[in-house]
Amino acid sequence: MRRRTFLKKATIAALAPPLQGSGVLALDRAADPKRLAFGGIQIECSTYSLIRARMEDFKVLRGQALTDDPFFSHLKTYSSPFQPTLLSTAVPGGPVERHTYEQLKAEFLHRIKALLPLDGLYLAMHGAMYVEDMQDAEGDWISAARQEVGPNCLITASFDLHGNLSRRVIDNLDMLSAFRTAPHIDREQTALRACDMLLQCLDQKIRPTIVWSPIPVLMPGERSSTLYEPAKRLWAQLPGMNAVRGVLDASLLVGYVWADEPRAAASAVLTGTKPDLLRKDALSLAQQYWDARKEFKFGVPTGTLSECIERAQALQTQPVVISDSGDNPTGGGTGDRAEALAALLQHHVQNAVIAGIADRPATEACYRAGAGAVLPLKIGATLDPLGSHPLEVTAKVVFLLPAGKPEERQAVVDVQGISVVLTDSRRPFHEIHDFTSLGLEPKSFKIIVVKAGYLVPEIAAIANSNLMALTDGAVNQDIEHLPKNRYRVPTYPFVPGLQWKPVTFVGARSPQQ
Ligand SMILES: [Zn+2]
Repeated sequence: MRRRTFLKKATIAALAPPLQGSGVLALDRAADPKRLAFGGIQIECSTYSLIRARMEDFKVLRGQALTDDPFFSHLKTYSSPFQPTLLSTAVPGGPVERHTYEQLKAEFLHRIKALLPLDGLYLAMHGAMYVEDMQDAEGDWISAARQEVGPNCLITASFDLHGNLSRRVIDNLDMLSAFRTAPHIDREQTALRACDMLLQCLDQKIRPTIVWSPIPVLMPGERSSTLYEPAKRLWAQLPGMNAVRGVLDASLLVGYVWADEPRAAASAVLTGTKPDLLRKDALSLAQQYWDARKEFKFGVPTGTLSECIERAQALQTQPVVISDSGDNPTGGGTGDRAEALAALLQHHVQNAVIAGIADRPATEACYRAGAGAVLPLKIGATLDPLGSHPLEVTAKVVFLLPAGKPEERQAVVDVQGISVVLTDSRRPFHEIHDFTSLGLEPKSFKIIVVKAGYLVPEIAAIANSNLMALTDGAVNQDIEHLPKNRYRVPTYPFVPGLQWKPVTFVGARSPQQ
């Protein structure tokens, strides 16, 4: 609650005293109670992944279930209610199947239509969606929403730090707020900033200015954790910038590198009521980011799987957490690869756990065989058979998670002293509970292999220490050698000697000078 009060005050300070003159437009409707709605779509898609996100891969919240979602409980604290439309979220992965996307969009627009006229719309987005045969999928979604709500409705959006922006996105929004932390621990604050500024603009009858400076620099999220320099100092400036009168939001986005699209880039985005100030800040952030482009490094030691395992064995500490970074499902990796298991077996490692490998057939075989059974298993390469090879092993079923639905099934098997978690569906292992619910005590292992990039706080807190294996996969960290870069515009590091000076674009809906 304290955080919320602070945010309210910061936004009010940015607007007070009531603004007059430049940058201010009277809205046609903003009488109380305001008519507000929210919804969106969130997925991060590697265009290098062969798997497709289909309807069954999305968790779709609609109507009351969306209103009741704990993440959006802050919306209930506003005096005007936010009406639910539809929110579709999925574990990051490959491109979204076109038909699935069109179906979700059609229902979203239909639900908006039923709520018209609207004064304000909050879109909870990610920014790195890729839909089959479509460039700039968020631009498509947001412009369709704009068409539905019309020009008088203010649209605010929250974005992931790894979102890619476009002219179309900026031209159809009135304001935008992106996460300021990686790992992302400020999702709630970002949503609050996005909604607070919407309400403040409606209350004060302001149409804000949105200024965007795209920065032609791309890198894996793993090299831009805000825990380490230079990201730490770059993002640390944002709250101060945001506190200045006339600035409603200051955002800096890394973008998403595994998207072979023209819009893939980093971005500085400022929203507020003083266009000159916003332009100055956006140019400053963009220039600083560009100047720091060669400084971004992995925050932890890296190496091949073998190097990381050998290094872990030589360490006196435990648990040593090794990130299998190329197959990280929360970055868009497939999550079905078994190379880490093969490497642990090759090094005769005992007392290690791998969490987890998405393998429906192997998981089903374990459930059929039952706990205690010993059986031959082929593990890996079930979702993307071209990306890697399965490993043939003899496994003992140690634990079967009681699961209501088949897709929730998880089996723990022992393979020559290594505990392997097999899962029916693609999923991350980001919390201690993810292990303990399977009867695994993470601190008791010498080596923990997770399919992750940088570690999320709960796992980072127990890691003693953390190594990042630069493995193959749909989110391979060796970005300079990414194949089929057909649509990218000249971007660092793909064009190492690129020359560049920052420029800004003002959103089409912003009050023009
Ligand atoms: Zn992200």
